[in-house]
Amino acid sequence: MMNKVLLILADGMRPDAIDRCGNSYAATLMKESAYTPAARTVFPSVTLPCHMSLFLSVEPGRHNTLTNTYVPQVRPINGLCETLRLHKKRSAFFYSWEQLRDLTRPDSLELSYYANGHIFGYEKANPMVTTAAINHIRESAPDFVFLYLGYPDAAGHGFGWMGKEYLESVRESIERMEQIITTLPAEYNVIVTADHGGHERMHGTELAEDMTIPLFLRGERFSPGADIPNASILDIAPTIAELIGVPRDEDWCGKSLV
Ligand SMILES: [Zn+2]
Repeated sequence: MMNKVLLILADGMRPDAIDRCGNSYAATLMKESAYTPAARTVFPSVTLPCHMSLFLSVEPGRHNTLTNTYVPQVRPINGLCETLRLHKKRSAFFYSWEQLRDLTRPDSLELSYYANGHIFGYEKANPMVTTAAINHIRESAPDFVFLYLGYPDAAGHGFGWMGKEYLESVRESIERMEQIITTLPAEYNVIVTADHGGHERMHGTELAEDMTIPLFLRGERFSPGADIPNASILDIAPTIAELIGVPRDEDWCGKSLV
């Protein structure tokens, strides 16, 4: 029974970059998954607000983190990991951008692995977090695993979205996805997405290039090759809760895509 979830988020990965980056595993993943190149993130299309909205399934106006500086919630919502913990499910995080530590409240995770992308370089942090996730899944097989790949956003800011260095960062990130997905135990569903897109050397606007994200849903409850109409980043937490078999929090605004 597929009742565990691996969520892979590549920061700043545009759907049109997946087609153009030259990694053939992207086509394999599309064939094996329900897929849309036209899911929507929230505004502002900025990393921490978008991640907060993913994990809490509410618009930024509700959680109130509107920049990359975390703001404690006035009326706290139980996010995905707090909800899983409440139902005795185990979660683990693997990431390279430290602001993401605020995505969960203390005691929600069984393991948190952080490699500083600014110090190691995101192109090195990507394989570090991936290898750590593979090893931990082998040892502990938690119900929910979050793997954050920071390289595309760093390449986008450094060299420009859709340029050759950026496309290489997306190609490398998809290589990391192949590395972990092909070694996963059978009980894992896989969700692949991004927090936002980008244009020139920036993101954060309401432009389609910033607001459009890819979404792959791979598992026995999804039809390979099917479209996912009207998908939003807010739908990811309710989808994961349903796959793992816990009730969604009543404050969440997204819909399950199962
Ligand atoms: Zn960025």
